[in-house]
Amino acid sequence: MSNTKFNYSGISSLTLHAAQHYFPNSAHLTPIYATSTFTFDNADEGMRRFSGEEEGYIYSRWENPTFKPAEEIIAALETFKLIHENGNELKAKAILHSSGMAALSNLFQSNLKTGDAVLSHFSLYGGTHEYLHKILAQNGITPIIADLRDINIAEDTIKRNKNLRIIHIETPANPTIQCVDIEAITKLAKQYGLLISVDNTFATPYLQQPFKYGVDFIIHSTTKFLNGHGTSIGGVLLGRDIEFMKTKATKWHRLLGGNTNAFDAFLLINGLKTLELRMQKHCSNAAAVAVFLQKHNAVAQVNYNGLESHPDYAVAKKQMKHPGAMLSFELKGGLIAGKTFINKLEMCTRAVSLGTADTLVSHPASMSHYGVSQEERLQFGITDGLIRMSVGIENIEDILADLDNALLSA
Ligand SMILES: *Cc1c(COP(=O)(O)O)cnc(C)c1O
Repeated sequence: MSNTKFNYSGISSLTLHAAQHYFPNSAHLTPIYATSTFTFDNADEGMRRFSGEEEGYIYSRWENPTFKPAEEIIAALETFKLIHENGNELKAKAILHSSGMAALSNLFQSNLKTGDAVLSHFSLYGGTHEYLHKILAQNGITPIIADLRDINIAEDTIKRNKNLRIIHIETPANPTIQCVDIEAITKLAKQYGLLISVDNTFATPYLQQPFKYGVDFIIHSTTKFLNGHGTSIGGVLLGRDIEFMKTKATKWHRLLGGNTNAFDAFLLINGLKTLELRMQKHCSNAAAVAVFLQKHNAVAQVNYNGLESHPDYAVAKKQMKHPGAMLSFELKGGLIAGKTFINKLEMCTRAVSLGTADTLVSHPASMSHYGVSQEERLQFGITDGLIRMSVGIENIEDILADLDNALLSA
């Protein structure tokens, strides 16, 4: 049972109460159902559950009671205060997966077949880029990459590729923080009868709700801001075509085997409770860091959507509540300065990934993209002196002091 009738005014109440299930033994919090299978009292009950005539659990690759609250909260967040074109409240169904990549695999495999093509923007999470070019391409599905910030290029590409079926965008994108205009690209997709999906990992539904513009699917790596504490890997696929989500997407999810587990779902539910509180602090800290870096003389350039100097400043302002917690900056001293800066940090954490409560700092040229040639890196905007930051919720004075000290020697 969930409290669907209460008229929540904000998302903290939603994340705390939208999935208020009544668990056995009056448990206050979601129990961790560490069980692979579920029992039947008799053969008839088994038959009724398998046929869908009766609600109930069967096997944890399919569904588990600990997954449900997480799915309901995330669906509530992504549809909060949104109205369907038919005038009713917008509804969406979420399916929790073992990782962001598992959610992406289900999205593409349940919607595409050999001979189809998928269009995406060139700035993408590395794993998604590789997935499109290795796994989909091997299955006869063509990945097409274009600069989707330019609507004319987007339309031209659509017209030239009659086998296009879906447009997939990530906004803001990893690692360049580029933004694609969700409203404009969705309008174009619908005009040409294409599906459209958005990876909303960087923004979270606190900052941006892609369903508002009529997109068909949203995916998240819940590993990042939704979990918020870096305690588990997870992903979610959401769709507003409930019938498709209940049938094909559910079937593919069960057969692809990308199920999550009760413990990770529990950690996600716990993390979600403070989403709004954390995002507010992440965002105000990031804005302060951006202003600080912009004035620093060791820094050549700051890439942050909240600075008017960022090419996507206007798009971010249009579709996001705040420019967010992710930024990158370029050190004047290149590769050596990048490594020196990273090594000098005393408080901020040296790690890839993002969205944890603490500040994470990485140097792509010596870490995540070490194996990529300089020429290829530059195509993605990853220069030798580029530093990426996921700004955390520490006291801002300490973040700035740590950066300032490390920049002295950079
Ligand atoms: C991390 C990430 C993914 C992949 O998610 P995993 O949970 O690591 O599988 C996909 N998209 C974006 C934007 C990401 O940051």
